[in-house]
Amino acid sequence: MAQPAHMASAWPDEPVPLSLDTAPVPEYGTGSLADLLPTIAAGLEVPGFEHRIAELTPADRNCVFLIDGLGWEQIKAHPGEAPFLASLLGSSRGGTGRPITAGFPATTATSLASVGTGRPPGEHGLPGYTVRDPAIGELMNQLRWKPWTPPHAWQPYPTVFQIADTVGVHTAQVSSPTFRDTPLTKVALSGGTFHGRLTGEERMDLAAGQLAAGDRSLVYTYYSEVDGSGHRFGVDSDAWRGQLMCVDRLVQRLAEQLPPRAALYVTADHGMIDIPFDEQSRIDFDEDWELRAGVALLGGEGRARHVYAVPGAASDVLACWREVLGEQFWVASRDEAIEAGWFGPTIDERVHGRIGDVIAAAHDDVIITASVNEPNESAMVGVHGSMTPVEQLVPLLEVRS
Ligand SMILES: [Zn+2]
Repeated sequence: MAQPAHMASAWPDEPVPLSLDTAPVPEYGTGSLADLLPTIAAGLEVPGFEHRIAELTPADRNCVFLIDGLGWEQIKAHPGEAPFLASLLGSSRGGTGRPITAGFPATTATSLASVGTGRPPGEHGLPGYTVRDPAIGELMNQLRWKPWTPPHAWQPYPTVFQIADTVGVHTAQVSSPTFRDTPLTKVALSGGTFHGRLTGEERMDLAAGQLAAGDRSLVYTYYSEVDGSGHRFGVDSDAWRGQLMCVDRLVQRLAEQLPPRAALYVTADHGMIDIPFDEQSRIDFDEDWELRAGVALLGGEGRARHVYAVPGAASDVLACWREVLGEQFWVASRDEAIEAGWFGPTIDERVHGRIGDVIAAAHDDVIITASVNEPNESAMVGVHGSMTPVEQLVPLLEVRS
């Protein structure tokens, strides 16, 4: 499918030349995850929201199905395993199948907060997998919420679900019971009623019922295992393909149960890329004295690093990381990344110090591991985080009843 004109300049088919000016910044405001719920809410006439994604047309009943880790490029590459999803890629069914951008970094905690709050990372304040908490000077893992931090001080904005709920839109989240009371759910997805169900089939059936439960409804549902198998075994592994086949059937199951006047939107929080297990592709920060010089904390994840310098060393660290990483990464200072719009058009004051003094976003098929401090993450086959199309572009597929 041809990409919309406004995306053509930022997302060329050819690899982008490596300069900060040409890093493909997410399409905040017109075509990013943070624009989806506000556009739906505008269609439901919830006060305070405007229509941001041009192709979406309003529906009374709206379901967002977020498939963790299933990028746009992966669906395009696997029509055999995902025949139903692949049929939604173009506009042949009257839908608006197109890619949108996840946001930076392309990681679950960041993206879920962007979806739920309808705000870019610079505002909701979850700008990475791990980021420094300026109040204590330590890393905070935003997916696992460790160390525990008061959730609503960390992310104070109401979710779109909460706002829609107050004006009478029937809202619900249908996910795994394990996420019911997590801080990430609280700050990103609360509002209406949370329904925990263990199996994908139960979630689809319940989501369809919740859609029908109101004249105007907004329902969110979620599936995690495409991402999980990609991390463990790689994109394209048998396990990953099996998960793709499974989720394809789940989407079809939900699509076939849509009540009247409904729209189902299938999207994802990020794509994924496999990284070979060799020294050129996996740069081990914990073993690299050049990269470690002047660094107080290493945050983020392999393909999207927040680097926090010891006081006074930020410019030396920036110069060194640029020198060592060469053209394999986009390397920016905090100010450069903010200026370029990586985290959105505005950065709230409380978010500023969570962003690294230096940010390194992978351009090539490489990661910066940390074998001592992050043994589990460093052993992953499939990873994500950066701004390359395979990680950054996520589907926005539509089924209408
Ligand atoms: Zn993941």
